[in-house]
Amino acid sequence: MPASAVNSPSRRGYDMNEDKLRRALVANCLELERLHINQGTAGNLSVRCGDCMLITPTGVPYDKMTAPMIARMPIETDYGVWFGPLAPSSEWRMHLNIMRARPDVGAIIHTHAVYATTLSLLHQPIPAAHYMVAAFGGTNVRCTEYAPFGTKELSDLAIDGLADRHGVLLGQHGMLVTGRDLPEALWRAVELETLAKMYVLALGIGRPYVLPDDEVSRIVERFKFYGYHPRKTKISAPANVWNPRKPHTERLPAKPKRKPRERP
Ligand SMILES: [Zn+2]
Repeated sequence: MPASAVNSPSRRGYDMNEDKLRRALVANCLELERLHINQGTAGNLSVRCGDCMLITPTGVPYDKMTAPMIARMPIETDYGVWFGPLAPSSEWRMHLNIMRARPDVGAIIHTHAVYATTLSLLHQPIPAAHYMVAAFGGTNVRCTEYAPFGTKELSDLAIDGLADRHGVLLGQHGMLVTGRDLPEALWRAVELETLAKMYVLALGIGRPYVLPDDEVSRIVERFKFYGYHPRKTKISAPANVWNPRKPHTERLPAKPKRKPRERP
């Protein structure tokens, strides 16, 4: 079923939180372009906003996109309904279905980043040749089979490929990363393209070594404490784990206080 437009007074009167998220979506689009992680109008971004999803509109170049152009879609109800003025990205189904299947996901970035997409052309997953693969929650970043863009089939493949993961390569298409919020998703988009680039370059000169699964699992655990964390999320590392985000707070013993001189 194609997405359908609904005229609603609420489409113009969004609150401050939604306004902030709309602006953040636009800012993240521009940042992806600045970092050369996206190709033209190919990529699309979404963010959870209460019981709705905000998603980039279809066919608008990022440098022409403004916050009011972002489309809004209910997540759990009225499947496929959107609030304009512009129609959501043609990949709205993939974004919406992931948000429905994964309550831990607050933001999604999908792009055709060159190195990640290069691997997807070969249906080549990214193994743990570099330890940063742990930022995606497991021992590799999977690559799905091919399915046409905008279809339920592609959405199902993406959800399967994302099981216990925060990123996936989409066969002969591109890459998709998730985050609890937009900054975390952007961080992963950059990390995934970097990992893909390193892996492609390494494959060009030899056969990269792959870390053993138990080592990657240990790093996945460590990432829970000092990977990227949204500012509002408080996560305390156990006392015996080194945490570079926590300043050294051990105090030197206090100097003994001098007795005030007695005045004659
Ligand atoms: Zn795409």
